[in-house]
Amino acid sequence: MKKLRKVIEIIDPVYVIEGAGVRLKRSIATQKLDYLDPFLLFDHFGSDDPEDYIAGFPMHPHRGIETVTYLLDGRVKHKDSIGNQGILKKDTVQWMTSGSGIIHEEMPRPYNGKMEGFQLWVNLPAKLKMTTPRYQEVKSSQVPKINSEGGAIVKIIAGEIRGVKGAVTEIFADPMYLDVNIPTGSSFEQPIKPGHTAFAYIFQGEGTFEELDPKSQEKETIVQSTKLVIFGDGDYIKAKSKKTPFRFLLISGKPLNEPIARYGPFVMNTTDEIEQAIKDLQNHEFVK
Ligand code: MN
Repeated sequence: MKKLRKVIEIIDPVYVIEGAGVRLKRSIATQKLDYLDPFLLFDHFGSDDPEDYIAGFPMHPHRGIETVTYLLDGRVKHKDSIGNQGILKKDTVQWMTSGSGIIHEEMPRPYNGKMEGFQLWVNLPAKLKMTTPRYQEVKSSQVPKINSEGGAIVKIIAGEIRGVKGAVTEIFADPMYLDVNIPTGSSFEQPIKPGHTAFAYIFQGEGTFEELDPKSQEKETIVQSTKLVIFGDGDYIKAKSKKTPFRFLLISGKPLNEPIARYGPFVMNTTDEIEQAIKDLQNHEFVK
């Protein structure tokens, strides 16, 4: 019998100031939740006030990780050390594998004053920490969108639903990254690979995650935006919207179970490797 994944923890994001002065909500990489293997950081940025984000993220390095940016609204101008530059628009996904080293900038630009999006950091295993940097940009039109049986509208950024593959592929963590929008009165059920870490980030409305097989004894957890929900192990999750549309990101990935040493934008396995990253940066040997 398939096992339902239960909600094991609900996390309130904390406000932090990042980059050159961007105000954002952070749910992973906080005191409460330092690491949710393989996920190192999860940020939600969004505001109607350009003062909250205009300072952006000027040139900075990354090593040993992948950063995933999903823009819901606004524009972000970006440029990196492997020759990519451009302007990210609404519903664009940027999946950047920093590997051995990338230096880039991410500068939000107001568009009708608004800006909203997410950044997720996915850890790389020891054997891929120093891999060649890679950049994948997926435009809105390339993200598959499907209607689930229960009536939800799902954008498949990574992973697979009923044979439909997501826009981003060939990522080590074997991730699933879905943008799920459940209209009022509808429901959504989704298999998640057993053993993978899974969380949902609720950013619009409210709804429920079912906890037990309804045939035995129905129990559900009600959650409202904005919260991060961690699921226990199992085979699938089930969500419902009752009073309002319910929108969340559903993210899962294979845990690495490796030691981590982190220092700002560098995440390696040992402190020696962190010191090497700092040395490489000082000696202008960071970008291979
Ligand atoms: Mn960055």
